[in-house]
Amino acid sequence: MNWLELDRTYCWHPFTQAHTAAPAINMVRGQGSYLFDENGRPYLDAISSWWVNLHGHAHPVIAQAIADQAHQLEHVMFAGITHPPAIILAQQLIARAPKPLQYVFYTDNGSTAVEVALKMACQYWRNQGSTRTRFLAFDGAYHGDTFGAMATGKSSGFYTPFTDWLFEVDFLPYPATWDGHHPESIEKQALDALDVYLNTYGNTLVAFILEPLVQGASGMRMARPHFLRKAIARVQAQGIPVIFDEVMTGFGRTGSFFAAEQIGLTPDILCLSKGLTAGFLPMGAAIAQPHIYEAFLDNDIGKALLHGHSYMANPLGCAAASASLQVFDQEATLTRIQTLIQIQRSLLNTLAHHPAIRHTRQCGTITAFDITTNDSTYNASAGLWLREKMRERNILLRPLGNTVYLLPPYCITDAELHSIYQHLQEVLDQWSTSSTITTSTDLF
Ligand SMILES: *Cc1c(COP(=O)(O)O)cnc(C)c1O
Repeated sequence: MNWLELDRTYCWHPFTQAHTAAPAINMVRGQGSYLFDENGRPYLDAISSWWVNLHGHAHPVIAQAIADQAHQLEHVMFAGITHPPAIILAQQLIARAPKPLQYVFYTDNGSTAVEVALKMACQYWRNQGSTRTRFLAFDGAYHGDTFGAMATGKSSGFYTPFTDWLFEVDFLPYPATWDGHHPESIEKQALDALDVYLNTYGNTLVAFILEPLVQGASGMRMARPHFLRKAIARVQAQGIPVIFDEVMTGFGRTGSFFAAEQIGLTPDILCLSKGLTAGFLPMGAAIAQPHIYEAFLDNDIGKALLHGHSYMANPLGCAAASASLQVFDQEATLTRIQTLIQIQRSLLNTLAHHPAIRHTRQCGTITAFDITTNDSTYNASAGLWLREKMRERNILLRPLGNTVYLLPPYCITDAELHSIYQHLQEVLDQWSTSSTITTSTDLF
């Protein structure tokens, strides 16, 4: 059977120009930090399969929990019905979430978690007889690919064909930081802009949505916790809901279980997905504080949140998520994460002065840098070139333009991390020394 021919005939891939794309890699197996293609060739998964994997591929504890649950109850609708896996997981998430978050609304993925959070905020005001129309987000934010998520992520630049259909969102300057960079003045400008904005539009603002600590898809752009704390405090002081999109940052990526802990403020609504099921099943959640939930309580059905998904609170997803939390305890994952942070810090330091890169940065287990290019039209091809060179060395990366990042699963070994940086060093040496590198758009 020629899998790749069948793939080209029947499958439509994400973020891919099929006309020019190189053939996909046909993966058939995963174990720990590795994926294996149909010929048994191993690939080190340095980006946790698009940021979803936590404890390694095919982790036996999670696989077993899903199998057990599938034999017990595979799925049931969540309207008028509940089930132990959903109740247990909600309780476990609330135990780990900052207080006083309390009510878990399950969704299918990160985009729909954001979508529900935005709808909760809209109706929160409407149910109180207030008509508010504006959303605020940060420049460069990415919140997913459904329409509300696209509107609030409009400035990320991913949505050109759809811009005419997106509702109005206001964008605040985002003071991105990197090592050795002193951002006080741009942080102050952003806070000043926020003050002016709140004075003018505060009483028409529905909600402020942000990716705390790290903007992922727009290039691993990091911001300092105390800046975010000040910005969020200003918004919450006016009684305006703040939504944390922790779809990427949740479940230990930034060094704490949730990024919110480092900011020291609790969002009114918290969005989760990706690591929620440790990379096993598609599931998300929007978790609300009591004052949000209570604004929907009334004798009038029209004041209820009339939103749901067929696979909401899917028992298999809930079982996977609970098993992942169990692995966090059993394997002392948060302790391991602290070690990974230290190792990555020293490895990134050794790479930092490489002439081919700049803006090295780290937030928890995530490290990133930009490849230096003089020609801006060359930017994206630098990332594509590096991705191909690393793939030849059996390491899976997926740079964002010319931003290269590592976001490894927590089971990665010290030796595996060292080898990734060693290979990066060697590949970047080639970038520096070669002036005749030919790049191809086929790679994307
Ligand atoms: C990936 C991502 C989303 C979208 O999640 P999907 O599950 O892909 O729909 C939303 N927000 C952030 C911050 C993300 O990184």
